[in-house]
Amino acid sequence: MSTPAFYEATAAVTRARGAPFVLEPVRLRAPRGNEVLVRIVATGMCHTDMIVRDQFYPVPLPAVLGHEGAGVVAAVGPRVERLAIGDHVVLTYGACGHCPSCGGGHAAYCDAFYARNFGGAGPHGDCAIEDAHGQPVHDHFFAQSSFATYALSREGSAIKVPREAPLELLGPLGCGIQTGAGAVINALAVRPGSSFAALGAGAVGLSAVLAARAAGAATIVAVDVVPARLALARALGATHTVDSRAGDLAEAVRQATGGGADYALESTGRPEVLRQGVAALGRLGTLGVVGASPLGTAADFDVNDLLIAGKRIQGICEGDSVPQRFIPDLVRLYLQGRFPFDKLVKFYPFEQINQAAADSEKGLTLKPVLRIGR
Ligand code: NAD
Repeated sequence: MSTPAFYEATAAVTRARGAPFVLEPVRLRAPRGNEVLVRIVATGMCHTDMIVRDQFYPVPLPAVLGHEGAGVVAAVGPRVERLAIGDHVVLTYGACGHCPSCGGGHAAYCDAFYARNFGGAGPHGDCAIEDAHGQPVHDHFFAQSSFATYALSREGSAIKVPREAPLELLGPLGCGIQTGAGAVINALAVRPGSSFAALGAGAVGLSAVLAARAAGAATIVAVDVVPARLALARALGATHTVDSRAGDLAEAVRQATGGGADYALESTGRPEVLRQGVAALGRLGTLGVVGASPLGTAADFDVNDLLIAGKRIQGICEGDSVPQRFIPDLVRLYLQGRFPFDKLVKFYPFEQINQAAADSEKGLTLKPVLRIGR
């Protein structure tokens, strides 16, 4: 059977800074080399999709965003070795696979990370998507551009998952959930019995709460400004919650943890919360930073507080995870009931993508997931 040269699809296109997503007919070229074409079943929406729509990170437009796709392999390029048509996959970030970071098991710090995930084109500068007028549309967003019925990815970014797991739920494991959980498990390596504070209880922060619980942290503090998120944090395992509008965030965390947190994770993207996060740490504590701010954003902290107390600040990308190992680990924990990230998810039809974005930005929905196909 011959492979078609193009696949007809529907994609949510971002045509201008801050503009609504518009569903359009598009076509994708067939997979080459180690590429895989994935029929998308569902895609999560992450805060990062919105900040790229708003051009905090200047991905060239028009573009197809979406970077938490889950689906079924529909076609494979001639150099694909591990995946076959029909496999269930979760799509995750792209990396070159050859630089020292990739070779050292830290592909989230790949030399080519920005180009591979935010470059708006493939590694050779080409776009695989064209619109109804035959014009190229920027793509390869996080090696997928999965706000679409089909996405072109690569073998290294398509993680095979077991068929018994609910595929339509799994897409967020490719970014937001992996980021929060991986920050706790891989990067901070939270110890059993220790104290952990999630500064920001959105999808990333609550994934970190779930992971801190799974890792055996004894004190888990969730900080946010949305009461419903704090209530959910308690239900998911937080031992304390702090509404940061009510007073001094750092003091509240120090009180809850008996002197300062062993670990904290900043996921609000706000420099003032980062500063308070350093102050909230105990001696030899570590603050992980995952919240994204506009390029060039600076934050300050008390240098002597850092120095005298031996505190650390650690930037963390994509949970410093090796997705081929970490995503199946999280699926296993979910299937055992020990990582109930489904509690963060609300499903929307693909056509309601702008409603899903608005609900997320208003704090009404933690993790929107768009149902795109079957
Ligand atoms: P989100 O918007 O759901 O979560 C942010 C939370 O911070 C919200 O619940 C919000 O109410 C809370 N918040 C805002 N101001 C606050 C304040 N002053 N004090 C306390 N809480 C406050 O977003 P998300 O999907 O959880 O993503 C979190 C961040 O992580 C985003 O900036 C996103 O772009 C980034 N991100 C980074 C990576 C990475 O690899 N580093 C990966 C995915 C997402």
